[in-house]
Amino acid sequence: MTHKVAVIGAGLAGLSCASYLRRAGCFVDVFEQERGIGGRVATARVGMVPFDSGAQYLTARSDVFRNYINELVSSGYAARWDPKVSSGETKGIQLHTWYVGTPGMSSIVRPLAESVRVHTSRKVHTLSQTDKGWTIWFDDQTNVGPFAAVAVAIPAPAARLLLGRIEGMVEALSRVRMQPTWSVMVRLDRQTLPEQDVYSDMSEVLRWIARNSSKPGRKPQGEMIVIHASPAWSRETEDADPEAVAEELWGEVTRQLGLPAVAPQQMLAHLWRHGLVEQSLGDTFIYSTHYKVGTAGDWCLGRLAEHAYESGQGLGRAIVNSL
Ligand SMILES: Cc1cc2nc3c(=O)[nH]c(=O)nc-3n(C[C@H](O)[C@H](O)[C@H](O)COP(=O)(O)OP(=O)(O)OC[C@H]3O[C@@H](n4cnc5c(N)ncnc54)[C@H](O)[C@@H]3O)c2cc1C
Repeated sequence: MTHKVAVIGAGLAGLSCASYLRRAGCFVDVFEQERGIGGRVATARVGMVPFDSGAQYLTARSDVFRNYINELVSSGYAARWDPKVSSGETKGIQLHTWYVGTPGMSSIVRPLAESVRVHTSRKVHTLSQTDKGWTIWFDDQTNVGPFAAVAVAIPAPAARLLLGRIEGMVEALSRVRMQPTWSVMVRLDRQTLPEQDVYSDMSEVLRWIARNSSKPGRKPQGEMIVIHASPAWSRETEDADPEAVAEELWGEVTRQLGLPAVAPQQMLAHLWRHGLVEQSLGDTFIYSTHYKVGTAGDWCLGRLAEHAYESGQGLGRAIVNSL
């Protein structure tokens, strides 16, 4: 008999889980609260111009993720990125080859979503279980089901809300800590950053500055810059007005890099409320074979996209073995 499995969250973890389940013969429905897929591997538009607002590049330490990246590169969904950085910095931050999605980071997840049904703008509110299986309830009080098993592939603090009543899961999820990160996308009409394409940890406020248009496969429209604030500064300013945050971070960039006082043509700030993992779980995933529900995400193993991918695959395997 073919089993129906629900996956909540269409980020890298959810989609890698969904694609594993599909390859094992399950019918898979993925439910995503946003209008697009990819989660924190995101391509956002400022006006009509695409920027990578979340993850900036991928690295691969494990064979399984390296194989996936190789597939992406050979099918044109990703390419190697060799930004100009100062030689001291290269040693510090470029220990592994950097890859980016083409034409934007969200291409990274596209092949995983091809063979599964993805339902966007569907925010899951509650899960309930009867002897027939799991029912998924949405924000608008509609529901779908039954499903033989459920994979919850969302940030740990959000997963706690859905899995709070499952024995043992709250304790495990409570150990995980995630930090907010402000991302600001800036468009200028001409090249404004000096020679380097990437600057990291410039001050206590700035974690990352990158020339988005230096990535392969982009169509540069003037100078396109992505700025990420440090988690500490982002936490202090979590409730601030996004426009004020954009102004402040751009001001900090011009001060730190000694740029002339130029007014950007467009700027947009986005807060990733559960942006980066501060304290991870230390296990690949959590799964209850008794209840047939589990959870995955970058926060299980670390803080990188590759951790999300591995966690999703691990949970997919555990679900298949339990059905
Ligand atoms: C600013 C920033 C920079 C980063 N830079 C890098 C980098 O350079 N390299 C790197 O490897 N990693 C980087 N990361 C980390 C990387 O983006 C993550 O590790 C990875 O994308 C996490 O994937 P995930 O599937 O676990 O979670 P997510 O991508 O968060 O996916 C979870 C999905 O679930 C959805 N969701 C949540 N709640 C619900 C609900 N109730 N119902 C339905 N859907 C729901 C969300 O909308 C989201 O799409 C960065 C992250 C940020 C924020």
